[in-house]
Amino acid sequence: MNKTDKIWMDGELVPWDKATVHVMSHSLHYGSAIFEGARCYDTEIGSRIFRLSDHIKRFYNSAKIYGMQLPYAPDEISDAIKTTIKENRLKECYIRPIGFYGWDEAGVNPKGNKVHVAIVVWPWGAYMGEEGLKNGVAAQVSTWSRIDNRSMPTRAKIAANYANSILAKMEAQRLGFSEAILLNVEGMVAEGSGENIFMVNQGEISTPPNSAGALPGITRDSVMELGKKIGYPVKEQNFSRSDLLLADEVFFSGTAAEITPVREIDGRKIGNGVRGLITEKIQSKFFDIVKGKDSSFSKWLEPL
Ligand code: PMP
Repeated sequence: MNKTDKIWMDGELVPWDKATVHVMSHSLHYGSAIFEGARCYDTEIGSRIFRLSDHIKRFYNSAKIYGMQLPYAPDEISDAIKTTIKENRLKECYIRPIGFYGWDEAGVNPKGNKVHVAIVVWPWGAYMGEEGLKNGVAAQVSTWSRIDNRSMPTRAKIAANYANSILAKMEAQRLGFSEAILLNVEGMVAEGSGENIFMVNQGEISTPPNSAGALPGITRDSVMELGKKIGYPVKEQNFSRSDLLLADEVFFSGTAAEITPVREIDGRKIGNGVRGLITEKIQSKFFDIVKGKDSSFSKWLEPL
């Protein structure tokens, strides 16, 4: 990864190498860190953070689900993110706020442990490569099921949930695929290891509901809104593995992955095995918006 100069940690900007945590931190042992992933884009009108307030809201929602008391107000986190980007003199970057427990108490219950917050920003290009954005990626339906909401709420972006994603991603890449698609324990499509998933059929766009085990993605929400705006009905509905294989088009959405077409699943071509036409329209609209070229969605761009 590309190291930067400063990391915001508990209210102060510290040099990258000094932003360390104790080995006994509760969150290291039990996966109790909640985090976010947002992006700042270099646009024609200056640097802009895509849907910052929605990311901050989800950060607090993750904390709420786990009863974690973040020691800052949302506006303070928002300001700290902007300061960290400016201090590092970055025009464009990935943004990772993380809230985690320290080492005051031993044992599983995090009660009594100090809550720390850090914000890290660094340059990060296309998650599945520029080639993947253009020509699509090959995905595998994982042998691992998406964690069930009754065991671990998938609406929270908590480190522990990513143990499930790690297993799926490692398996997919070991077998030569770029990404995994996870089905839930009922066998319905949930999401990718770090992205939401959409399929397109006869001009209709659909994505699994959050109850299927999908994180309420901010890119997902954006696709639903802009899809409708450009004239395609968008539905939240459950669908199966075979629905995916027979879809006209499939794509992933996420802050890291942006809009990545899926050209192949389990060795079967999706549609014509290239980026689909509707996927391309959504993708190009999305990039126009984040790059500040489409003023009709400027409400989503937060200045530094
Ligand atoms: N699902 C999972 C499991 C993720 O980690 C992410 C990335 N945050 C997403 C979906 C996409 O969410 P967003 O569009 O908000 O980045």
